[in-house]
Amino acid sequence: MDKNNIKKEYSNGEITVIWQSGKCIHSGNCVRNLHQVFKPKEQPWIKMEAASSEEIVNAVAKCPSGALSIK
Ligand code: SF4
Repeated sequence: MDKNNIKKEYSNGEITVIWQSGKCIHSGNCVRNLHQVFKPKEQPWIKMEAASSEEIVNAVAKCPSGALSIK
C-alpha cells in the first residue's frame, strides 16, 4: 500500500467514518470542532464512542479537504 495515501475506517456500529491520509491537509478543523473524537496523537486517532453520530457527521462535513467522509 502507498504509505502516503492510507485509507482507514472507524465505526460506532451506526456510521463509519473514512479517513484518507492523502487528502488530509492537516487543517485541524476536525480537532477544533470535536476534540474529544479527533485525537491525532492517539491510536486509533478517531474515538467513535466519544460523541453522538450526529455530532460526528457534523464535524466530518466541516473537513475542508474531503479527507473525512461518512459511509
Ligand atoms: S479537518 Fe480534514 S483536512 Fe483537516 S485535519 Fe481533519 S481530516 Fe485533515
